[in-house]
Amino acid sequence: MNKHYRECIYLDFAATTPVDPQVVDTMLPYFNKSFGNPSSVHYYGQQAENALEDARSQIAGILECESKEIIFTSCGSESNNLALRGVAFKVREQNKSNHIIVSSVEHHAIIQTAKQLQAQHGFELEILPVDKFGTINTATLQARIRPDTAIVSIIYANNEIGTINSISELAKICQERGVIFHTDAVQAGTYLDLHTSFLNVDLLSLGAHKFYGPKGVGVLFIRSGTPVIPILTGGGQEFGFRAGTHNIPYIVGMAKALSLVSSDKTERNLKLEYLRNQIIENVLTNIPGSYLTGHPTNRLPNHASFVFENVNGNELLTMLDIQGFACSSGSACKTGSPTPSEVLLALGIPAELALGSLRITIGFNTTQQEIDIFLDALPTIIKRLRK
Ligand SMILES: *Cc1c(COP(=O)(O)O)cnc(C)c1O
Repeated sequence: MNKHYRECIYLDFAATTPVDPQVVDTMLPYFNKSFGNPSSVHYYGQQAENALEDARSQIAGILECESKEIIFTSCGSESNNLALRGVAFKVREQNKSNHIIVSSVEHHAIIQTAKQLQAQHGFELEILPVDKFGTINTATLQARIRPDTAIVSIIYANNEIGTINSISELAKICQERGVIFHTDAVQAGTYLDLHTSFLNVDLLSLGAHKFYGPKGVGVLFIRSGTPVIPILTGGGQEFGFRAGTHNIPYIVGMAKALSLVSSDKTERNLKLEYLRNQIIENVLTNIPGSYLTGHPTNRLPNHASFVFENVNGNELLTMLDIQGFACSSGSACKTGSPTPSEVLLALGIPAELALGSLRITIGFNTTQQEIDIFLDALPTIIKRLRK
């Protein structure tokens, strides 16, 4: 079968998700009916402001925090930038702390921001090693925190390998030492616990397009009293943390999307896991020279990721696309790049093997039939590429 006979099968839900139709319906009136600027005094402005504050309190309810701790941004990347850069600069101003800790399996939005803070602004950057599953060990973090550590940022669930970190434990260590802790929860938001008091975090990033909301809108939770300077300066929107006229339709859509994925999480996760486990078991059994990357059990319920011996990952993606399967090598931001993924290298996977990576991430609407068609096709494709 190929794409002339059937539609392409989408297996890349970690890259992005389709917007839920209920979310689209919620957004539509805010484009041209209730289109006001929430900063305006008049009726239109008030209407927009009400929508904005309703969305804020809805999200605050889900995160179990106060409304004023919810900051709207333009995406998960911006939330990560504001968290890391905003805290690093403010803490250094307050007490000269100059040391930043991030893990070696962060998304580019964290690692590149951290590297810029190091290269352009004189911060000392420490990158935490991970174990072979991509997990950050609490003892490792404990040993690296210093009196002059300004911020620690550790990813909640990894986009490339699906591994989930014990954020509440890692954050607790920081809390006890008086060090600010941020987590990138962009990939975790759809599936995992987001209660900020359980997680012990000071800051937490989310991006709507990973949880069936629109692209181009995100959230940063900032616990009250956390030292942060704005990185986008201008008007006083978002309690002074983020200037710019609010994107009301997207913010309203994000709140709706987050509330949809926040109900019946356990049940939905079980359904995803059931299908996902078939992918993992089938691939490891039927494809010689295949290895699972990331944690075997403590991973996102929709996430399967592998490396294959003697396979070029980019060729594999192209071949899969021709046959009508939309998958990824790991990070959407890296596709097309010939260098092996830094995340896979951090797990100790040899560079040669890391180049043969494949990530399959399923969604709420993925069917058994789609999985069957995919698992039927994959071994032949791999065999052909190895010739
Ligand atoms: C997608 C993603 C981001 C970036 O979010 P955008 O909204 O696309 O900017 C950051 N971190 C992780 C873990 C992601 O999966």
